[in-house]
Amino acid sequence: MPPSMDRHTFINGAPRSSHGSKSHQAIDPSTLEPIATIHTSSETDLDDVIQAGVKAFPTWSSTPAIERSRILLKAAAILRSRTHELAVIETRSTGKPYSETSQIDIPTGADVLEYYANLVASGGLNGVCVGIGAWNYPIQIALWKSSPCLAAGNCMVYKPSEFTSLHAEELAKIYKEAGVPDGVFNVVYGGGDVGAYLTKHPDVAKVSFTGQVSTGRKVAGAAAGEMKYVTMELGGKSPVIVLPDADIENAVDGAMMANFFSTGQVCTNGTRVFVPRSIKSQFEKRLVEKMSYIRAGDLYDENTNFGPLVSKPHYEKVVGYIKHGIEVDKAGLLYGGLDTEVLTSRLPEKTRKGLWVRPTVFADCTDSMRIVKEEIFGPVMAILYYDTVEEAVKRANDTPLGLAAGVFGKDINQCHQVISQLEAGITWINTWGESPAEMAVGGWKQSGVGVENGRKGLEAWVRNKSTLVEMGGEVPTVFTKVLPSKL
Ligand code: NDP
Repeated sequence: MPPSMDRHTFINGAPRSSHGSKSHQAIDPSTLEPIATIHTSSETDLDDVIQAGVKAFPTWSSTPAIERSRILLKAAAILRSRTHELAVIETRSTGKPYSETSQIDIPTGADVLEYYANLVASGGLNGVCVGIGAWNYPIQIALWKSSPCLAAGNCMVYKPSEFTSLHAEELAKIYKEAGVPDGVFNVVYGGGDVGAYLTKHPDVAKVSFTGQVSTGRKVAGAAAGEMKYVTMELGGKSPVIVLPDADIENAVDGAMMANFFSTGQVCTNGTRVFVPRSIKSQFEKRLVEKMSYIRAGDLYDENTNFGPLVSKPHYEKVVGYIKHGIEVDKAGLLYGGLDTEVLTSRLPEKTRKGLWVRPTVFADCTDSMRIVKEEIFGPVMAILYYDTVEEAVKRANDTPLGLAAGVFGKDINQCHQVISQLEAGITWINTWGESPAEMAVGGWKQSGVGVENGRKGLEAWVRNKSTLVEMGGEVPTVFTKVLPSKL
């Protein structure tokens, strides 16, 4: 990794040494080795970056839409041509296997950029918008926010998560190389206080946030004080309902994708798996057999499909939940658990110190258990049994969250009936997790406000302006129709 991996505020097309003295180390979660120093943006930096956006906005917003389209298409092409190097950076920064970052994170992020480059909007723009990202899909989140923002003619100040910041400068450089004018896409670094400062700033027109519900509440509250537009992409505790006629192989594969892809660090994870009591033995037997296909290992080996958790605090949180599931909830531990030696002993020497947990399955869970109610954001599946489909739907909806939901079954009519009753914004039938650029995604209930992607996703980056023109007739007045009087 070149020494230039250190990060400073990216303003007006280049990194600039931060005015603040604070910094922290970015860590490779598979080895715990430091990989870069991230310099926190000071308040002076943040003010300067927002003013850079304010200054760039008139030119970028009045650039003909077709020209903005050409520039963004070029950025998408550069991004694709750098898939390998960007995927390596994402893998080092997040601990995700290269097989995932190179085949999912970078290409699907580029898809979204290409999609919005072809769907540029004109008129009714916002101004300077803030994007605040979570750590789990760093470059993808940056692209989901910046592509429609820039396509609509706005400028963006983007703050990545302090845990996974490395991608942001790479993206900023790609935009610059493609012809995005200086000041249109800027990057700042730091933690929650940096995000909070941006959210409250009077020159910021809109905030697009991805993160936890508790943080989202603070961000939306601060933005509401200034009547700023917001998009909130928050957490979930999503249900998977396996119907009695489901193909067991498919249902098991789906439940595994819904819990172990990206080591369970996916917002739409289907962590509550509802299985008919009548087929629980078949389902669990096949699931345990298939768990052996989850492979931890060298993250650059194409057979590795399971990485470590992203950061030390997150590791402590997930381990805490597994412990709670065993000791307090007393759920049935079907697979995995706290004995990580089983997993790490098979790893290459240099990665053994990494933040690994075993993929874990709890069976015989009940709705009131903490591991069933709270978002764990790790590789922890909870299986719940049900007797009637009606009961499963009711229990699936019994949560303040509503991000995603899925159904597995052979009777497609019944699948549709069940999906239509589930309170969630992103739903799947007989599959889990795909999210193509044209599919608008967003949570219901406390899982979010608004959507990203698809045509609807562009609407979040433009304001409505209505103009009624009287075509040469009279003003429809009520005043000249009566006798005059003096008041
Ligand atoms: P957090 O809420 O902890 O952080 C998200 C971002 O907000 C980070 O950049 C963080 O900074 C920043 N932040 C923290 N406090 C504030 C504040 N007061 N004002 C403004 N910004 C602030 O989420 P995580 O990073 O832990 O991400 C995991 C969560 O994200 C999960 O709940 C997951 O479900 C959700 N998520 C939702 C998605 C969706 O599309 N619905 C997609 C992906 C994830 P820093 O971390 O640098 O301190």
